[in-house]
Amino acid sequence: MANNDTTLSEFPSQVFPDDHRQKPNAIDQLHRVTAILAHELRNPLSVLQAGIDLMDDDANDEHSLKKLFQTQVQQMTRLVEDLLDLSRSADGRVRVKRRPIDLLPRLNDAIKSVEQVVAQRNQRITINVTSEPLWLNGDPQRIVQIFTNLLSNASKYSEQGTEIVVSVARVENDTIEIRVCDHGIGIDAEDLAIVFDFFSQVKTSDSLAHSDGGLGIGLGLVRTLVQMHGGSAWATSEGIGKGSEFVVRLPSCEPQLSDQGRDQSVE
Ligand code: ADP
Repeated sequence: MANNDTTLSEFPSQVFPDDHRQKPNAIDQLHRVTAILAHELRNPLSVLQAGIDLMDDDANDEHSLKKLFQTQVQQMTRLVEDLLDLSRSADGRVRVKRRPIDLLPRLNDAIKSVEQVVAQRNQRITINVTSEPLWLNGDPQRIVQIFTNLLSNASKYSEQGTEIVVSVARVENDTIEIRVCDHGIGIDAEDLAIVFDFFSQVKTSDSLAHSDGGLGIGLGLVRTLVQMHGGSAWATSEGIGKGSEFVVRLPSCEPQLSDQGRDQSVE
């Protein structure tokens, strides 16, 4: 296999870890996942239906309806893509195709992909970046997927009107560190170790008044993809109600600029 082309089969233990603290039996798990999946699909479908009903009423402007439709379709698309990746991950078919890329345009793409949901929740995203170039050997779509998942969680597990801060810095010579920090519900110290396991859902989020439970796939994929890029990911939190910080470290590479000094990595 070429160096830059990695499949998931190299990381089987992360997909279905043996030491899963909250591992229910297979039937219970299937019931739980089916119920949540049905719920996750029904919500956007009802919103789309309500939007279609509103189209009959001339008072509703096209622009807001379009935004409403876009958010719901994006949400369903993300869910379906996560499910496909989960099924691919079970037999090692997840692939990353790496090449030198500039990290910042990909972070901006991830921010753009959650911006409507974030705006609807009256939240805002602030980004702190160093001025030096931050390049890595990565699969551009997968890098966007990693940060879209982290940002979407940061929004989902925080109250309306809160701030999400993304900080990007070089640590040591050859590593880029990206921190996604929220002021949300936080994570209990004993759950920090399991949030990246597939199907893990910690007590805090179950008891929170959020109606959308979530399948528990996103962070499992984040960890898998980060590791396939030779990096590491972990979470920190000072406890329930005190927000969370998700940290991703990825190995950097030399910037690849054209003769005109332009970034050649952006499509
Ligand atoms: P999902 O969000 O679909 O449940 P994830 O794999 O993305 O699945 O996350 C797993 C669990 O980790 C969530 O159910 C939630 O309990 C917890 N979690 C993830 N992100 C955050 C966050 N930013 N703040 C608090 N808890 C979080």
